[in-house]
Amino acid sequence: MLLKQYVFIFILLLTIVAFAMTTRRFIRFFKLTKPAFKVRQIGCRTVIMLKVAFGQTKIFRRPIMGLLHALVFWGFCVILIGSIEILIDGITGNEKVLRFLGIFHDVIMASGDVFALVIAVAIIVFLARRLFLNVKRFAGIEMKHISHLDANIALTMILLLMISLLGMNTFYIRSTLEAGMPLEGYYPVSNILASWFTCTLHLDHILYETNWWAHILLIFIFANYLPYSKHFHVFMSVPNVFLSRLEPLGKLDTMDNVTREVRIMMDPDQAFAAPQEGEEEEMPERFGMLDIEDVSWKGYLDSLACTECGRCTSVCPANITGKKLSPRKIVMDVRARMKEKGPGLVKQGTEYTDGKSLIRDSISEEELWACTLCNACAQECPININHPALIVNMRRYLVMEESAAPGELNSIFSNIENNGAPWQFSMEDRMLWAEDITENDQTKVNVPLLAECFAQGEKPEYLFWVGSAGAFDDRYKHVSRAFAKLLAYLGTSYAVLGTEESSSGDVARRAGNEMLFQMQALMNIEIFEGYGIKKILTCDPHACNTFKNEYPDLGGTYEVIHHTQFIRDRLAEGKLKIPADALKQTRITYHDPCYLGRANREYNAPRQILEALSAGKTEMKRNRSFALCCGAGGGQMFKEAEKGDREVFMERTEEALETGADIIATACPYCMVMMTDGLKYKNKEKQVKNYDIAELLVLALGL
Ligand code: SF4
Ligand code: SF4
Repeated sequence: MLLKQYVFIFILLLTIVAFAMTTRRFIRFFKLTKPAFKVRQIGCRTVIMLKVAFGQTKIFRRPIMGLLHALVFWGFCVILIGSIEILIDGITGNEKVLRFLGIFHDVIMASGDVFALVIAVAIIVFLARRLFLNVKRFAGIEMKHISHLDANIALTMILLLMISLLGMNTFYIRSTLEAGMPLEGYYPVSNILASWFTCTLHLDHILYETNWWAHILLIFIFANYLPYSKHFHVFMSVPNVFLSRLEPLGKLDTMDNVTREVRIMMDPDQAFAAPQEGEEEEMPERFGMLDIEDVSWKGYLDSLACTECGRCTSVCPANITGKKLSPRKIVMDVRARMKEKGPGLVKQGTEYTDGKSLIRDSISEEELWACTLCNACAQECPININHPALIVNMRRYLVMEESAAPGELNSIFSNIENNGAPWQFSMEDRMLWAEDITENDQTKVNVPLLAECFAQGEKPEYLFWVGSAGAFDDRYKHVSRAFAKLLAYLGTSYAVLGTEESSSGDVARRAGNEMLFQMQALMNIEIFEGYGIKKILTCDPHACNTFKNEYPDLGGTYEVIHHTQFIRDRLAEGKLKIPADALKQTRITYHDPCYLGRANREYNAPRQILEALSAGKTEMKRNRSFALCCGAGGGQMFKEAEKGDREVFMERTEEALETGADIIATACPYCMVMMTDGLKYKNKEKQVKNYDIAELLVLALGL
């Protein structure tokens, strides 16, 4: 055995021991976390991993930097295979042991050589951007000096890795050829570099060995530095993507322990019943998340995988409008808190306390209540981190353990409990919106009640879920009336619940009151079951999301159709014929509601309707999955916004006005309220109108 081999094996063992100790530390931290979901659907996960992690699809949402980043990632994958050969060479004392792979070996060597140059150039660009350009995405209160230093150290190490790889290849070519030996592998870049040098064989050999050792030692150091760096994502991003949540972005996790509590409240006999499948028998220590020991393994994994790229924060409506909230900070705080408290918990057990907590000491209540639950952060994150899940879990703690929600939210909770709506309206008034609906020719439009239909032995095909805004908000009542006219015009078999309708629970859930949400949901499911409801139509994307994605966890599964999807389908069937001259000269821009778009990926239905209505459809700068929230979601519509530079709805209204449109089309009650307010504040309500898509159809059809 050569001395080189002894030295190499010794250093390799040191590296493995150091890495194993770090891994053991992380495993202990993971043991402190709470369960999340069960990892099933391996095929589906593999496809997501291939698309998002290896295909880098989300990175390409911003194409230029995305391409550079993707090249670095792909290059790393190729170079990793080459590094395996270096490892085997080091252990066996041979050179190019994988040469028996023939052409495959040549391809790996050649692509590794080219990628080394590409990565080096990309890293120089990344470093220059960080050092000399004032990129907003890299700033923020969470981005302390140490974060920037860490990023620069890791980038410099990658650059040195690539330089040493090219150096190794270059002097391998020179020393091999000068010794009259055949070259193993093909090296397009290093071939050129080799022609630039004129050294003796001895010097070539020394330079080859120097680069070889520099490269492998850098790999060893890098492997042990990474777990303490933001570049840990090099290891963690692929597993994190594989372990992504598979549900639509709009779905929040159901707290099984709350379900059990609520079932007992609604039916005390359940107290003695065995827990249902998936329910926990033990009561948890607390509801929601106060500190790091309440974080699920997925939440902690997310925090380890975070690249601190700031893509999430750069699209966050709260952050854009100057509020304290930064989704990147939330994720980084989780990681930092585990680093701070984890060792104490490992040593002293779950009773350990350091007198601090994640909420308040790391993340303020102000940050948590500024979130609109728009999911822009989760949509943008290149490694599928889900920030809203963390935020809602912390809200759940504040609401259910401390009753510490902002006062306005406490009021809507009691309104929902008492009146079945976030406002102080009587349930008895739920059908007032439907009084005296007439078409242009004064034909009365009758809105059928489900209870009456049943009494007459009829079973309508659809339940039209009007929603609290549709029943009580003066402006939005017009949308309910417009849609009712369309349903009558189409002769659709439908009915409404009328005074039996109550809040879907969506707003309570997003504001952290899981208990109230589940009470509403279970009560609604019981009513739906009573009437045998299979299909639900609604104009409200929030209700649509909750019924479609969240009620199934509680036993209610329905076909849920947003009114834009319903209208789009009737247009496609030719049942709605829009007159050629209707709205043709009107410029219309469409604001994507977060819970129709990002949460449920419906971007096309509203656009297809608008294209049928007007040749003047125009898009805002941020549209479809990039669309900016109106600022109303996550309970924001019912409370004062947190302190910032401006209101979210003003930012969005200005963007809509920039298009020069005559009409801002919306498809959500919250969005309608916010955009209408925005137009008022801008003194534009006379020039620019805000209509729901159902209203535009009614206008076009002259109903
Ligand atoms: S959900 Fe929206 S508001 Fe909340 S942190 Fe993410 S981007 Fe910001
Ligand atoms: S959470 Fe995702 S988008 Fe945000 S900084 Fe981390 S990796 Fe980037």
